[in-house]
Amino acid sequence: MSETRIPAALRRAVVRRAAGRCEYCRSPEAVSAAPYCVDHIVPERVGGKTESKNLAFACYGCNGHKGSATTATDPAMGNGVPLFNPRQQRWSEHFAWSSDWEEILGLTPVSRATVAALAFNRAPFRNLRRLLRRAGELPPEANVQD
Ligand SMILES: [Zn+2]
Repeated sequence: MSETRIPAALRRAVVRRAAGRCEYCRSPEAVSAAPYCVDHIVPERVGGKTESKNLAFACYGCNGHKGSATTATDPAMGNGVPLFNPRQQRWSEHFAWSSDWEEILGLTPVSRATVAALAFNRAPFRNLRRLLRRAGELPPEANVQD
């Protein structure tokens, strides 16, 4: 959760870089009932700075589930690993969509832990993805940086 107010110009740059989508679960802000926020990837309380390379655009759900965590348990191996870092890692190298586009699959220890900790496949998001798919909004546009 953010503790420092993000300067407006920096917030706009973060939103633009993310193409208006959560950088964790890829949900678009445009169809969200709750406002998105700028997440400190490394939380301020453990030394994370309010600078572009430590910020990610995040939906309310991912930000809330992430909280101040930087690590989580890989459910396949049972060990603690870092959470996905959208500034240092490519989404497409860690995650994949299920064949029906309703679930996000973790391909690596980092992404398995992130899928579980941030509850990427919670029921409301599976419902949203089903609707987005029907509306032709999933998969995300090819120009979204991954
Ligand atoms: Zn999200």
